This record gives sequence, C-alpha cells and structure tokens, in this order.
Amino acid sequence: MDAIVIGSGPNGLTAAAHLAKAGWSVLVLEAQPHLGGACRSYPGTRPGFLHDFGAGFFPFAPISPAFTGLDLPGLTWLHGAIDSAHPGPDGSCPSLARDHEQILRTFGKDGEGFRGLVRWFQRCRDALVPALLATPAPVGAAFTLGVDNLLTFASLALQSGRGLGEGRFATDAARRVIPGLGLHADVGPDDPAGAAVGVMLALLACDTGFGVPRGGAGAITQALRSYVEARGGKVLLNTRVEQVLVRDGRAVAVRASDGQEYQAHRAVLADVSAQALFLRLLPPELVPPRVQRSMRRFPQGWGTFKLDLELQGPVPWRCPEARQAAVVHAGDDVEDLARFTAEVRAGKLPSNPYLVIGQQSLLDPSRAPEGAHTLYIYTHAPSHIAGGWPAHRQRLADAIEARIEALAPGFRSLIQGRVIHDPSDLEAQNENLIGGDLGGGTAAITHQFFFRPVFPYFRYRTPVSGLYLCSSYAHPGTGVHGACGYNAAQAAMLDGNSGSDARRS
Ligand SMILES: Cc1cc2nc3c(=O)[nH]c(=O)nc-3n(C[C@H](O)[C@H](O)[C@H](O)COP(=O)(O)OP(=O)(O)OC[C@H]3O[C@@H](n4cnc5c(N)ncnc54)[C@H](O)[C@@H]3O)c2cc1C
Repeated sequence: MDAIVIGSGPNGLTAAAHLAKAGWSVLVLEAQPHLGGACRSYPGTRPGFLHDFGAGFFPFAPISPAFTGLDLPGLTWLHGAIDSAHPGPDGSCPSLARDHEQILRTFGKDGEGFRGLVRWFQRCRDALVPALLATPAPVGAAFTLGVDNLLTFASLALQSGRGLGEGRFATDAARRVIPGLGLHADVGPDDPAGAAVGVMLALLACDTGFGVPRGGAGAITQALRSYVEARGGKVLLNTRVEQVLVRDGRAVAVRASDGQEYQAHRAVLADVSAQALFLRLLPPELVPPRVQRSMRRFPQGWGTFKLDLELQGPVPWRCPEARQAAVVHAGDDVEDLARFTAEVRAGKLPSNPYLVIGQQSLLDPSRAPEGAHTLYIYTHAPSHIAGGWPAHRQRLADAIEARIEALAPGFRSLIQGRVIHDPSDLEAQNENLIGGDLGGGTAAITHQFFFRPVFPYFRYRTPVSGLYLCSSYAHPGTGVHGACGYNAAQAAMLDGNSGSDARRS
C-alpha cells in the first residue's frame, strides 16, 4: 500500500479519501468492530430506533473544503425550522435559525444585533471558514479574508463568552446563548478567549444550520468509506495497530495486535490520540524527551456523559421553538453555566447539568418507528469520579431527566428505552475519547494553532518521516469537518510527491 491510515474516524477516512482521490493505494485499519469513530450510529434497545453515538449535528460539513472537494455519495441533509433553541425557566427562548426572522422574533431587543453579526459572518464566511480550518498558519487565506474581517473576528473570539454577551446584548436571555454553545467543548463562560467556540457555532447555526444526514451520523462515515473503496482503497475493522515500524528514520509499516504487519510505501497517517502516537505507537528513542513530557501532562478536555432515549412521542417542551428545534440547550443563565463549569472542574457531579439535546428524529423519521422519537442528550462531567462511575451514573442520568422534565412537563412519562454512556463507556468504545473527552484534548486557547498538539508538530508532521497525526488532536480540533485528515493528507502528498524529508515540522 502507498498509505496506511490508523483509525476510521471522520478524519482518518477523509485523509484516506483524499489520498485515494490522488491515486494512492490506501488501507484503513480500525481497532473497533464498527466504522466511524465518534461519527457513527447504532441501533436502539427496541426495533426501529437509531442513535448517534457521538457527533449528532454537522454545521461544518456543507462548507468544509475537506468534504466539498469529495462530492460524497448518498448523503441527504435534513434541517429543522429552528437550528438551536435556548429555553430558560422564565419562558424565554432565544433561537438560532437559518430563517433569520426567527432570530428577530425570539431575541426581542437583541434580535437586530444578533442578525447583524450573522450578516457579517455570511459576507466573509467563504474566506473565514477555510482560513480557520487550514493548516496553521494560512497566510494566503488570512490575506483573502482581509484585515477588517480578521480584526472583527479577533475582537469577537478573544473575549470571554460572558464578556461578549454583556458587551453586545441587553437581555439575559441573549447573553446565555454564546456561552451555552461554548460548553459543547470544555470552555466556561469566564475563560479567556472562550467566546471563539460559541461564536462559531452560533453563526454557523444561522448560516449552514445544524443539519443531520438522513439515516444517522454513520451515513457520513459510510459515504467516506464508499468513496475510498470505489477508488480501490480498503478498510479492515477489528484491527488495532500497536506499533509504527520505523526504518532509517522513516515510517515503513505498522504492526497490529495479532502480529500482522502492513507495509506503507509512502506514508502512515494516524487518526489516534496524540498521546497514543507519541508515547505508545513509536519507540521512545524516536520521540524527543520534551514531546514525551508534554504528552504525559497533555490537557484532556472534560468527560462527556451521554443519554440516548427512546420516546413514545416528541418532547412536550413548554417553549414552542424547542418543539421544532434540531438542538435544544439547557442552561438557565450565565451564572448557571459558570456554576456548572466550576463543579465539573472541581471533580464534582454537576448539580444542575447543562445539556445539549438533539432531536434528530424530528428532522429524520428514519431514526424511530412512526410516532416515536429518539432523544440525544449530553452533558459534561469529570472524567473520573470518587467512588467510580458505576456508583454515580444513575444519579446523573436522573438529574438530566429532571432538568428536561422542568422545561417539558410530561417528558418522563414518554421514556420507553434508555442507554447511558458515562465517560468510561465512551472511551471503551473509542480509545481517542480519553476520559470521555469529545474534543481531542482541551479546546482552551492555550492549546490551539501552533500548540496543538505540541509545538513544533502543529502541521501534522511528526519527528518520524512519513508519519502524520491526522486526528482531532491536531489543528483545528474537534468536530466533523474532516480538516485534520485533509490537511494531514495534503502534507503527506506534498512530502511523498516531492520526495522531501518530512522530519521537519
Ligand atoms: C458525545 C459526542 C458528541 C459530539 N457531538 C458532535 C457534533 O454534534 N458535531 C460535531 O461536528 N462533532 C461532534 N463531536 C466530535 C466529533 O465526533 C469528533 O471531533 C470527531 O469524530 C473526531 O474525528 P477523528 O477522526 O479525529 O476521531 P474519532 O472519531 O475519535 O475516530 C478515531 C478512530 O480511530 C480508532 N483508533 C484509535 N486508535 C487506534 C489504533 N491504535 N488502531 C486502530 N484504530 C484506532 C478508534 O477506534 C476510532 O474509530 C462529538 C463527539 C462526541 C464523543
């Protein structure tokens, strides 16, 4: 094979797809019995239900250069009338939608201000999004974006979520939206430069939307697999790579746990955690001691605690917007989000868990039997908790249900099936989700761009020639955008085609 890709997450498969498109022979080796890493679907506890294991909503997919360059087969995108609803206990429900009339209506006196931001984003997003997803540092893309837009983006992203809300919006309801979206990752409302994640998600919700693929998140990774296989590539499941074999400073093969070796004539791309690559898959003498030290204290994001429910009917939200929303966020106000952040950081179970709630079956009837619905819910929690997760998971699941019941009386009586994934369950099903971290390491600004995963290896290359990190542990990090895989594949092709030594960063 020209290239071996370790791991079949969306980044691994995207890398494989671009290499195959360029005519390389590619083999993808996946440890698990299922394809797709954290972008896959699985059957429910009852016939006819289909849940998304990890990623559920895909604002980047329609515009990421990694995907638009592929023309993936068989993907149909479905949308709700509202993309993201943010109901509060006082009945307010600021809502983000591709239909901007919904923003004006639900944000009240902050509607025009929010819509102004969205309009700015829509004017520059064709330059901004590729610049953010590109290999650091994309000087050409930044030039296309222009100084004015760069400064506007920096002025938004470099604030805390609370600071941005207080500076721009008059109502408490509007002020909770961006910090609430920031908590998809491990970014609290008062974190320096913490607004970046929330701003991007908010603007994308009102532009490309929080769409879902018909048939579940797994349809995306299945489409990538089909693309690879149609170009002669292969995918092997149940094949865990334990070692990258290096000869004369160059990655030449990998060894799987059954002892089988697979040769790579041009490159090995690893859709694995940075720690696994630098501390386990490579012999220590090939990894600089400084990198090893940095990997030993690598800052993982928080744990994720997920519930997948099977319901007899749709959730009876009090707020009408939430009844039509792809995603609903529970967070009363910025203080509530700050308290949640402090509890998780202190290693405690959240007392009033912040929630991301996905209503995929409202958009895609193929996810549940007629009349019934799925509900996808996650919160964050410490990765490890005193007494162990088995002692606490039921209590946290109950607290999550109680919080939804308060916003949607009668909800609990609709539940007919429930699957709990605590942080250790997530990791057991995908070793990249260390401690249940969905982000490939922290999303804090201190670990982005040149410091992701470690300086100077922020451009996908590693200390070993022909070996590339292509997972979300590399820039631009979490999310199904395929950019980590695409950028790593570009680096591999550049090195492979020029015959240059890839030992440089
Ligand atoms: C609960 C949850 C909710 C999320 N929600 C969203 C969302 O709504 N929208 C969004 O865009 N993103 C979301 N994400 C994030 C998104 O799923 C990830 O950022 C994305 O899947 C990362 O892709 P990846 O290819 O880097 O790694 P992964 O998807 O983690 O895949 C890595 C793969 O590599 C395999 N692997 C690892 N080591 C080896 C080895 N040694 N040998 C062989 N195989 C190996 C693993 O088994 C796994 O299949 C969510 C994630 C989670 C967990």
